[in-house]
Amino acid sequence: MRYATDFLHIMKTLFFGVLAGLAFLIGKRQVTEEPDTPDNTTPVQDTVVTVIDEPQNDSLIPEFCPLNPANNAFSIHFRLNEFHSKDGIAVPVPVRGNVQELIQELEIIRAYFGGRPIIITSGYRSPTHNALVGGTSDSKHLCGMAADFIIQDIPAGVVQEGLEYLISTGEIHPGGLGKYSSFTHYDIGERRTWYG
Ligand SMILES: [Zn+2]
Repeated sequence: MRYATDFLHIMKTLFFGVLAGLAFLIGKRQVTEEPDTPDNTTPVQDTVVTVIDEPQNDSLIPEFCPLNPANNAFSIHFRLNEFHSKDGIAVPVPVRGNVQELIQELEIIRAYFGGRPIIITSGYRSPTHNALVGGTSDSKHLCGMAADFIIQDIPAGVVQEGLEYLISTGEIHPGGLGKYSSFTHYDIGERRTWYG
């Protein structure tokens, strides 16, 4: 009888021992399936802008150009793609900051002329394209600092008078002003004026 009691006791101990072991394992499994913390379940926002059209070629920028790297250049009325070289070369990242400064001046010019659209006919030029269109070897177009443009419904001569005024009052950077019969060149380089 005593043997039977002991046997029963051992069996009970084993039974509950196995049950406890199973419960422990199941509990552990459930815990490991839960997320570590609520924070880790939130996807991390990638705030870095990836430039996909950037030519990695230093020969696109002459040494005289000030470097002013930026991923993008834009304002309410202007977009970077309006300033890409007409041969399909994107404005190189190291001079996109120059385009940004130019765009800020163009916004002032646009507002001065009543908010009429400014059409950029030439912005940044790759050295190849600059040579093709007969640009000077020290052209500010090579640095993303120049724009040739027309303003809708306003004769080029009137645009040029407006730019002279804005330069004289210090409202825009006193840079280069090229007076052509059908368009205007403006750049944020040193003060100069010429007739095309
Ligand atoms: Zn020009």
